[in-house]
Amino acid sequence: MKIICIGRNYSEHAKELQNEVPKEPVFFMKPDSALLKNNQDFFYPGFCGNLHYEVEVVIRINRLGKYIEERFANRYYDEVALGIDFTARDLQNKMKEKGLPWEISKAFDQSAVLSNFIALNRFLDVQHIPFSLQKNGETVQEGNTSDMIFTVDQIIAYVSKFLTLKIGDLIYTGTPAGVGPIDISDRLTGYIADKKMFDFMIR
Ligand code: MG
Repeated sequence: MKIICIGRNYSEHAKELQNEVPKEPVFFMKPDSALLKNNQDFFYPGFCGNLHYEVEVVIRINRLGKYIEERFANRYYDEVALGIDFTARDLQNKMKEKGLPWEISKAFDQSAVLSNFIALNRFLDVQHIPFSLQKNGETVQEGNTSDMIFTVDQIIAYVSKFLTLKIGDLIYTGTPAGVGPIDISDRLTGYIADKKMFDFMIR
């Protein structure tokens, strides 16, 4: 199982980090050892001095595919979850300055928070999902998948040109504006519409 993460998929977020709005999707990966599930505590890593949350809608691939056409991409998923792409922003900025890969800032243990999955259906359209993140009870990020620069189907078409997608692979679809730091003893709670998807503590 692999975890594919899309960067800069909401223009307001690209701007807040002074990044250009991309013309093609940008993706990077996390290993399966990065997963944090079941509302377990997150342990603030000692190598990081500026850890940021990025709340993201997550798609799980349910069919094997390669070179998937955009118009058929919706056959490759039927559930969504909410996740956090934890980012060691200080390390990421250092690597970006040097033009080096981001893994030490993105792929570390517990950096991929994942909720349970809920079914997509006529009440929940993948490109009209409202989602939000609260830190200590205060809303810090709010987004809607209708604001994505690249749709889920475009992402699947693009990524599957390079990688074979397998059953169980996860795609973190990018974060809206409002990313920010967390500290030990903070509590993070994520919602899809009014449904609480995860709720856990930073230790
Ligand atoms: Mg992200």
